[in-house]
Amino acid sequence: MSETLDVVDQIRATEDSLEVGVYPKREVNIVRGEGAILWDDKGNRYVDCVGGQGVANVGHCNPLVVKAIEEQAKRLITCPEIFYNDKRAELLRKLVEVAPAGLRRVFLCNSGTEAIEASIKFARLITSKTDIIATVRSFHGRSMGALSATWEKKYREPFMPLVPGFSHVPYGKIEPLRNAITENTAAILVEPIQGEGGVHIPPAGYLRELRQLCDETGVLLILDEIQTGFCRTGKFWGGDHEGVRGDIMALAKAIGGGMPMGAVLIDEKFGELQKSTHGTTFGGNPLACAAAIAAIQFMQDNKLEERATEMGDYLRSRLEPLAEKGDVVREIRGRGLITGIELKQKVVPYLKALLERSVLALPAGPNVLRLLPPLVIEKADLDFAIEQLIAVLG
Ligand SMILES: *Cc1c(COP(=O)(O)O)cnc(C)c1O
Repeated sequence: MSETLDVVDQIRATEDSLEVGVYPKREVNIVRGEGAILWDDKGNRYVDCVGGQGVANVGHCNPLVVKAIEEQAKRLITCPEIFYNDKRAELLRKLVEVAPAGLRRVFLCNSGTEAIEASIKFARLITSKTDIIATVRSFHGRSMGALSATWEKKYREPFMPLVPGFSHVPYGKIEPLRNAITENTAAILVEPIQGEGGVHIPPAGYLRELRQLCDETGVLLILDEIQTGFCRTGKFWGGDHEGVRGDIMALAKAIGGGMPMGAVLIDEKFGELQKSTHGTTFGGNPLACAAAIAAIQFMQDNKLEERATEMGDYLRSRLEPLAEKGDVVREIRGRGLITGIELKQKVVPYLKALLERSVLALPAGPNVLRLLPPLVIEKADLDFAIEQLIAVLG
């Protein structure tokens, strides 16, 4: 590699030539993080409204998470589920403590798509039925089962045929759902707020009606709380906004304080599932469990859901004028610290303009700009991000 290439060019050349190429990339080499701030190799500082794509709720390198990882790394890193483990047991108790009442059986895995995959399999096991109803604009992951539940055509089409038995109905409406239920329906799978699909908040009462429909028909409700869970939306769980819990709940993203982890919680009324029907080598590994215990404890001790509400309301109140008069913004949606700014144009040039102004943000579909900052973001840093958003979108 030429010595005239700077660090970013070298890193870029390496990743571009050695990765399979499925990821669109930004022109920045991120090397360090703290709270809601990231730094590149030249020492430039960025306000991070990507938050590891909704992972870094407790902040980058949260000191309690770092300490828990350091201590656990010296004791035991890997330990499969065929053995009992102290850290795993501690995390299980912590998870059912924060979970909605009744969700007291846990399966630990390593990512969101795995949590969805397991949720689908558990719904089939529990009901002895095959079919899953998901929603238009849903995102549930990329493995073949999770992808079958995901709506977006460009993710699905290259991989047809997918798993049979999946259908999609409009999000936020109950009647189409009622009509889609058949004798083969095992479960309805929904996000309390659609994240990747464009930050869509369902009409008030939707989740409650969904719960009621499931209770009436015996169809299981699977809530995908992978993005909405762990205080992101201003409540501990997205379903808490309507006091609604799933029979099955899929978790990932923020659960491990940045460590890769996923989990599925199922209602205790289902009892124990049959031995050896599912499993994963890394699931419940002590290192991820130690990080998750620290992350969840931090969320509880700091009431992160309240902070998300306060900061999110403030953020949207300052951005709202953009939607009222600007030529660029169509609508601003959000709850807590998940915010979608729907544009009248394609979003990618605006993401680049923000990067040049030291703010990192995400897309959610072709024309929605999504903000998922760490929930610990300082007011001054949020103000900086707001000023850059106004400059770029105003
Ligand atoms: C991110 C996400 C997934 C997939 O999680 P991965 O860890 O990327 O596999 C599934 N559902 C929702 C709602 C998500 O936001």
